[in-house]
Amino acid sequence: MADCELCGVARPTLCPVKVNDPGVTAAYPTGTWRGINEECLESCRMANLNRIPSDARKCDLCKAGNVPLFVVKVRVPTFQEPYHREVDRAICESCFEACEDTIKRREAEKEEGHHH
Ligand SMILES: [Zn+2]
Ligand SMILES: [Zn+2]
Repeated sequence: MADCELCGVARPTLCPVKVNDPGVTAAYPTGTWRGINEECLESCRMANLNRIPSDARKCDLCKAGNVPLFVVKVRVPTFQEPYHREVDRAICESCFEACEDTIKRREAEKEEGHHH
């Protein structure tokens, strides 16, 4: 099991998103992988379309600060009705692109699956 970086939900498999974490660029110059679940990947895709500016200090995925950030609404599960609450997360432009890459890669994989 792994926890989603955005909503904290544990899943057997997460969608890998390649981000540029400024804190570890020296060690990983080509980017590092962060895992988010499908729901959050979809939330990021919607957020990329809506582009609501966020006043957060840093990106919740790559931890970059001093960059334009946008609101991503994620659903965090709770134990009471309606069993989830919406929480605002912030992600940056480069992470939006990373999410788009992941979405495209997943779609390509699905296509592959159909041909076999
Ligand atoms: Zn999530
Ligand atoms: Zn980011």
